[in-house]
Amino acid sequence: MQSKVSELFGSLVFNEAVMEERLPRPTFKELRRVMDDGEPLDLDIANEVAHAMKEWALEQGATHYTHWFQPLTGITSEKHDSFLTPKDDGRAIMTFSGKELIQGEPDASSFPSGGLRATFEARGYTAWDPTSPAFIKDEVLCIPTAFISYTGEALDKKTPLLRSMVALDTQAKRVLALFGRHPRLVTTTIGPEQEYFLIKESDFQARPDLVLCGRTLFGCVPAKGQELDEHYFGAIRPTVNEFMKELDDELWKLGVPAKTKHNEVAPCQHELAPVFEYGSVGVDHNLLTMEKMKLVASHHGLSCLQHEKPFEYVNGSGKHDNWSLAADGRNLLDPSKTPEENLQFLVFLTCVIAAVDNHADLLRASVATAGNDHRLGANEAPPAIVSIFLGDDLDAVIHSIVEGTDFHSTGTETVDLGVPMLADITRDNTDRNRTSPFAFTGNKFEFRMCGSRQNLSDSNTVLNTAVAEELDRFATDLEGERAKDFPKAALAWIKETLIAHQRIIFNGNGYGAEWEAEAERRGLANLRTTPEALPALIEPANIAFFEKYGVLTEPEVHARYVANAEQYAKLLNIEAETMIYMARQIYLPALIQYSASVAASVATKADIGITARSEKELVRTLTQGIDDISARTDELEERNDAAHALDDPRAQDEAYVSDVVPAMDALRAAVDAMELLCSRDVWPVPSYNEMLFYV
Ligand code: ADP
Ligand code: MG
Repeated sequence: MQSKVSELFGSLVFNEAVMEERLPRPTFKELRRVMDDGEPLDLDIANEVAHAMKEWALEQGATHYTHWFQPLTGITSEKHDSFLTPKDDGRAIMTFSGKELIQGEPDASSFPSGGLRATFEARGYTAWDPTSPAFIKDEVLCIPTAFISYTGEALDKKTPLLRSMVALDTQAKRVLALFGRHPRLVTTTIGPEQEYFLIKESDFQARPDLVLCGRTLFGCVPAKGQELDEHYFGAIRPTVNEFMKELDDELWKLGVPAKTKHNEVAPCQHELAPVFEYGSVGVDHNLLTMEKMKLVASHHGLSCLQHEKPFEYVNGSGKHDNWSLAADGRNLLDPSKTPEENLQFLVFLTCVIAAVDNHADLLRASVATAGNDHRLGANEAPPAIVSIFLGDDLDAVIHSIVEGTDFHSTGTETVDLGVPMLADITRDNTDRNRTSPFAFTGNKFEFRMCGSRQNLSDSNTVLNTAVAEELDRFATDLEGERAKDFPKAALAWIKETLIAHQRIIFNGNGYGAEWEAEAERRGLANLRTTPEALPALIEPANIAFFEKYGVLTEPEVHARYVANAEQYAKLLNIEAETMIYMARQIYLPALIQYSASVAASVATKADIGITARSEKELVRTLTQGIDDISARTDELEERNDAAHALDDPRAQDEAYVSDVVPAMDALRAAVDAMELLCSRDVWPVPSYNEMLFYV
């Protein structure tokens, strides 16, 4: 008998099994070819697919369809159209054509384009991405698409990701050909571990900062934080358990392979990890997961916080991008038993190491957001310095290659080609250095700098293109070699490349101050904030790099820089405005009222000859606090207005980080100091103690 889960899994997905069942054999075969080889789809075939898709969707209760896409805001967008077509005789039929399947035209003038559409064409269109299956969400047939301008510029995050996967496929095949392998498809595999917080919906609603900004902008330190480490992997509270069960069901129906769920380090913090999937599908599924988390939480009286730093004083949330390469499903970063395969593994490993060193600036830029600035380098997440952790054993192998010494370690020997045997080493690589931003974890890398709320397309686009570049270099250098000289030449190439890039390898504690100093000595960048990190995108060498591999054109790169820089300033403006609003309209009135009532008590007591010494002191402190808050609010307003008025995105971001952020911190400190003094009954919003420790 089938279990409930296998029945549920993919039941709302127009997946290959459904296609095979519902499409005529030749149509299915043609579609498969299109999916595998990225060929354009013929309109007759599209019509047949659209018809089958519509019939299937109607049977599942769908009434509408949408082109589901990922504009530069990073979240997903959709506009629903019904299948309905009215007939002259007053009846209606449900229709869906091939043209509607393969191309849509959202009225997308309000999406950020970083100036792209202003320069070229006002409109954009969406194009079906047949490699990511269509699915039904809330009675709507969702068709995953790319979003492109009429002149072909990418207006979304998916298009460059798909292009980078093509670049990687092309270059990896050249390298594999040198090893006598000719796979049909080389792709990335990704498994994103998603962290999030769940709090009571009533607490969420009572905090304008959470509602408007997704994070608390005020709040004094709670009596208890995460110091007892009792939450990590702890028993899951019943409401959360119910939430997780429903979430799993919903995700399984959509074919999202949700696998692992557990409590995280901070109170109220949790994590979900799926089984890894084909690169762009993994990103799509992560976005669906984030959306479903929010929806399902609301069914349980909870709110799901996906911001990178919802609460000060406890850990924030990240998203680990587990990343590897697979040739026809075979993991290329899985060390194996034969020397030939080990040589191949070492080539791919070396290419990743060199790629990360060469493009550390772009990787850093790919995770630069206002939210992530609160995490990176804050001793809870990797530092803002990009480095690679390999583990002691693999590090020893690298060392022996660089030094030209034989590699001797338990269970390993140097045989035949002079290639160290690796199988036992890396499989046993259980030493997980949690402080490393880019860690080799046995048979994949884990990029840990990504923020919880981010769309993983950006990081994967950079990573894929960077690795493609190194694979290209290897293939170009070695393609002329005679077969019998190849292993020696490959090993020499590996050695030379590792010598050039070993500075990026660091196995120690990434949280330590010593590492910052050491990294500086090694010439590794430490870009702490978004305004420092983003401009790398538009360095001429980086633009040339994206252009060379057909991933992004110069105007597309510029557009992305402008969109990201503007996004940063806009988010900070919203946070500053929210603080000003909360200070003037929520905190100050409450404090004025409370101090007046304490003052009245002092006066009443004085009338009957009692000196209320501490109450008098309290009134004095509260009044001082009111003055401080007022002054700091005015100061924040002034600085925010000045920053907000700037036109140039780069200058504006710099003004925000250098002028506005310190003023926000100062205002928060003034309000938080008062929270500690006030009666719980008069404090106008839920405290950290209440929000983080509900039952
Ligand atoms: P951790 O110890 O980092 O929490 P987990 O095993 O819980 O590790 O999660 C690891 C993630 O890595 C999972 O999402 C898993 O599917 C993913 N993963 C495993 N193998 C690969 C691979 N070859 N490529 C990409 N992701 C992978
Ligand atoms: Mg992990």
